[in-house]
Amino acid sequence: AKEIGKNNIEIFSPTMNVGAYKKFTLQNDLRKAVQENEIVVVYQPKVSSETYTIIGAEALARWKHPQWGMISPMEFILLAEKTGFIHTIGNQVLLEACKQNKKWQEEGFPPIKVSVNISPIQLLHPDFVNHVENVLFSTGLSPQWLELEITETAWLKNESEMIAKIEQLRSLGIGIAIDDYGTGYSSLSYLKKLRPDTVKIDRSFIQEIPNDLENTEIVTAVINLAKKLNVKVVAEGVETKEQASYLCNLHCNELQGYYFSKPIPADEFKLLLKKGICS
Ligand code: C2E
Ligand code: CA
Ligand code: CA
Ligand code: CA
Repeated sequence: AKEIGKNNIEIFSPTMNVGAYKKFTLQNDLRKAVQENEIVVVYQPKVSSETYTIIGAEALARWKHPQWGMISPMEFILLAEKTGFIHTIGNQVLLEACKQNKKWQEEGFPPIKVSVNISPIQLLHPDFVNHVENVLFSTGLSPQWLELEITETAWLKNESEMIAKIEQLRSLGIGIAIDDYGTGYSSLSYLKKLRPDTVKIDRSFIQEIPNDLENTEIVTAVINLAKKLNVKVVAEGVETKEQASYLCNLHCNELQGYYFSKPIPADEFKLLLKKGICS
């Protein structure tokens, strides 16, 4: 069985199964991953629902592990949050995404917005806002082309502190999106309190539309509400043509999902930008 050591470091034991062994080694490899730039960024397009023109990209972290291959953020973000590496990793992703977006602009593509996922732990770090400002300054990216996605469940704790941080970030001129919208408990009150620029309806609601009546009603209601409050709506996890056209008819502003493209490396994303549209 595994033991928890003094510093919360798990001690390897030969009786561990492969899953536990992988987890054990990942934890120990994270420091090296950060130092040796094994964390890479892939991009998934966001398209206008009416034209399928690419108007944004979500930056998603991947870990290029020398032994295990590509590791999903589902496997390492939580670990990074627990071990404190999330700050360095998050900063690397933010810097890389802003640099890349500026590069695309310099290459002459019509400007798009890059969206970066931010862990609430990062957001609450006293230097975070300064760091964002520094990244914008050092990359020369205009703040209107950066958006931060913060998951809704994150708001439950430290509410007033979170809101204060959001206000500071907004005053830099960047966009704020509430991610995984609908999965938390206080969805409605946050729309009012935060006035985010964007809400991203969680994939779990998009999956079964238009066949699942309840999901369809929820999605319709969220889109209508957001419209009235002047908040932009993005649907994530769009996988079929049927979902895409249904969401377009509901006047959902932007669509994102495998139907258009999986998350891809920057050089492949550039080929999409050359075409301009996803179809
Ligand atoms: P998320 O922010 O909700 O990101 C959307 C996830 O759905 C991504 O998974 C994306 O690859 C996946 N996805 C996109 N379209 C479809 C689709 O049509 N069907 C299905 N089944 N899935 C789709 P990914 O890249 O594995 O990321 C998982 C989560 O990890 C993200 O969820 C986000 O919460 C977190 N994450 C990723 N990168 C970062 C990062 O740099 N920092 C932080 N703090 N979290 C990150
Ligand atoms: Ca996201
Ligand atoms: Ca989601
Ligand atoms: Ca999420």
